[in-house]
Amino acid sequence: MKSFEEALDLMLSCEYHAQTEKVDIMECLGRILAEDVTSDINMPPFDKSAMDGYAARRCDLGKPLEVIETIKAGDIPQKKIHTCQCSKIMTGSIIPEGADCVIMVEETEQHTANTILFTGRYRKSNIALKAEDIAVGTVVLKKSTLIRPQEVAVLATVGCVQPLVFKMPRIIILSTGDEIVEPHIKPSNGKIRNSNAYQLHAQILKMHFKSSYGGIICDTPQKLEETLAHALSNHDLIILTGGISMGDYDYVPDILKKLGVDLCVQKIDIKPGKPTIFGQKHNTFVFGLPGNPVSSFVIFELFTKPFIYKMAGHTYEPRVLSLPMADDYTVKGINRLSWQPIVITPQKTVEAVRYHGSGHIHALSKADGIMRVEAGKAKILKGEQVHVRQI
Ligand code: AMP
Ligand code: MG
Repeated sequence: MKSFEEALDLMLSCEYHAQTEKVDIMECLGRILAEDVTSDINMPPFDKSAMDGYAARRCDLGKPLEVIETIKAGDIPQKKIHTCQCSKIMTGSIIPEGADCVIMVEETEQHTANTILFTGRYRKSNIALKAEDIAVGTVVLKKSTLIRPQEVAVLATVGCVQPLVFKMPRIIILSTGDEIVEPHIKPSNGKIRNSNAYQLHAQILKMHFKSSYGGIICDTPQKLEETLAHALSNHDLIILTGGISMGDYDYVPDILKKLGVDLCVQKIDIKPGKPTIFGQKHNTFVFGLPGNPVSSFVIFELFTKPFIYKMAGHTYEPRVLSLPMADDYTVKGINRLSWQPIVITPQKTVEAVRYHGSGHIHALSKADGIMRVEAGKAKILKGEQVHVRQI
């Protein structure tokens, strides 16, 4: 049995060769850069007015100023500012020669038909200097950066409309179990609806990745072997649920081994999700997640998610919050590192969600995080800081 850290290290140290492709900027959200991106221009490209107002000389601000021109954004100023002169200027316009500040419209008053007076107190420049944000040739985004909307803006600014990104892994989701039926079917006695496949699909989609769905495989060795052999030859990652534990019909680990998958993780000292398996065959990887939906969810968050990011060239750092417990909390099953669904209250304290165990899928839908509880910890006291991952 592997500890949480050992299992994660083993998974993340596996070698995977991701290919690259160019994508259109409109399609690049959630993708991972496969090269450094440099800027082909200065930003701002020229000394730029940060205000609507008048471009003038600071030394003249105590006197009436003659307005000699109006400059709108996109225009090239035609006139130089001399003593006691100014040009009316709009935000984003080029600062005319001779001016060293822009005074805000709100801090001026009309003096005569063609002169104004500065009425403000502070003589700030209100000029965004050429190249103060980005200088031409600077690396603006590093290889392995995950592209979020704010990175899309940077790509657009530097004219990178076809960023080179890592190819997304081809992921297939499989469900196993004779008792599982698809959600559109009302389950007859002894059957339950498939929630895992849909939950996993949504977890992957939330990361902006894609998966295909291979359906439900019944607990028959021959059927499992056929389906898994086919999945192994056509995908980079197989995520399956169920059939990996100690039951009489849990054939998956032996079949994977028979098909040449090296199972380097066969149990993790964690609750929920202890029976989790993970293995590799050449450039294809397999996660076997426990059938219970809460286990499947939590193990995906803790292990599969960072692994998918790794396959796509990115090092995922989960955002971990440190927050105080709202009330005393007694830990159930204290012998293993455990993860417990919680809510974060409006006061930013942590409340445990009523939770009957790893089959209690409804508990997760009330939760907005999972809290880490160390092995051996019997009680968490009100006010004690706990580590929470938002979900
Ligand atoms: P297993 O890991 O196959 O022993 O399954 C553990 C529990 O999870 C059993 O109660 C299964 O019925 C349930 N389960 C297995 N697969 C799914 C699934 N795809 N959706 C919902 N529950 C499942
Ligand atoms: Mg099963």
